[in-house]
Amino acid sequence: MRVVVIGAGLGGLCLAQGLRQAGIEVDVYERDPGVHARFQGYRLGLSEVGAEALRGCLPHHLHPVLTAITGELAGDRPVVDPRLEPVGDLGPTTGTAVDRHVLRHLLLDGLDVRFGHQLTDHQVGEDGRVRVHFAHGQTTTADLLVGADGIGSAVRAQLAPEIRPEDTGVRFVLGRTPLTDRFARLVPGFGTVAKGSGLTLMLGLMRFRVPPRQAAPWLPDTPDYVRWVGMPTSPAPLAELMRDWHPDLRAVVEATDTAHSAQLSIRVVRPGARWPLGPVTLLGDAIHATSPSGGNGANTALRDADLLRRNLIAVAAHRGNLLDAVDDYERQMIDYGAEAVAHSLRALPSFVPTPGPEPLPTTR
Ligand SMILES: Cc1cc2nc3c(=O)[nH]c(=O)nc-3n(C[C@H](O)[C@H](O)[C@H](O)COP(=O)(O)OP(=O)(O)OC[C@H]3O[C@@H](n4cnc5c(N)ncnc54)[C@H](O)[C@@H]3O)c2cc1C
Repeated sequence: MRVVVIGAGLGGLCLAQGLRQAGIEVDVYERDPGVHARFQGYRLGLSEVGAEALRGCLPHHLHPVLTAITGELAGDRPVVDPRLEPVGDLGPTTGTAVDRHVLRHLLLDGLDVRFGHQLTDHQVGEDGRVRVHFAHGQTTTADLLVGADGIGSAVRAQLAPEIRPEDTGVRFVLGRTPLTDRFARLVPGFGTVAKGSGLTLMLGLMRFRVPPRQAAPWLPDTPDYVRWVGMPTSPAPLAELMRDWHPDLRAVVEATDTAHSAQLSIRVVRPGARWPLGPVTLLGDAIHATSPSGGNGANTALRDADLLRRNLIAVAAHRGNLLDAVDDYERQMIDYGAEAVAHSLRALPSFVPTPGPEPLPTTR
């Protein structure tokens, strides 16, 4: 059995690790030219389900490295106003903090990912095998094609064209600021939400148990940091929207060493009706993209990887056939994936800022 995974994100890599460990032939194809092509270094909160799935797929020798590069995440989620006065609380929660970029490097260990390969389309032949086409003209064949190619999935566009990303209308800007004692005091628990008129700022800490480069020499040299996500209601620069905010909050954004200046859209993908069963399936954001407000997109992608891995291992061990394994995976995945998206959308209003003041009229 040969499995082709499209997309070297967290979900695709996790699946590939799990299959490789079980001796199943798997190849990952990624559109980006390399692992550093885009800024992806923000903190994720892993739930128990996500962490279990990750451990299930990773080979045992990487488990201690995984533990070393995670951080503890527990406590309240206070809501404060722009002057840092408490105005509410989103309640306590727990999890494990992990840096997406560092985790991606860990997941790449031992895998030979084909970067620079953008899938354009696929066809299922009469023999039941899938032929995959890439933008530069190459092709490959697989017994199972897994579209783990994120929210804009080209595999989904062909397999289930009626399922499309929906824009929630909420925009965000993302950054990372080296951790200092001053900034650590702003986040006493799981995370802090600062809500002002026209802007919400969400802060979370990434404190590695062991610096990643020390945990394994091939991991990125990433220092502890504060991850901040700003949700503005207007395109004005954050510095302008935060003019009257507490100096400590302003300083987090001003001292950032990595930020997306462009505003990104929060989009979701809700799994709809099932597509015809076959040797092509979907995983992660490609089929259930959540709003970051739910903190469960990566967790759900990792859960998919673990479930699909288990089902495919059973097929390789002659306990059932491939299509039954895919069918069982899709039934379960669509169920919990739809709930993950719904949960994230229910949580979104608590983070959306109240509208800001009207912009001043421009003078000629
Ligand atoms: C600010 C922010 C905070 C978040 N916080 C959390 C959190 O705390 N907890 C949590 O669980 N989730 C969180 N998420 C969500 C999480 O990051 C995603 O759900 C997760 O990364 C999805 O993984 P994936 O493997 O499905 O897709 P992706 O990581 O998007 O990977 C898809 C890959 O496919 C590649 N690709 C795309 N098209 C093609 C093609 N045609 N051919 C080949 N390759 C292709 C892409 O380049 C990409 O590398 C957060 C997201 C954001 C933006």
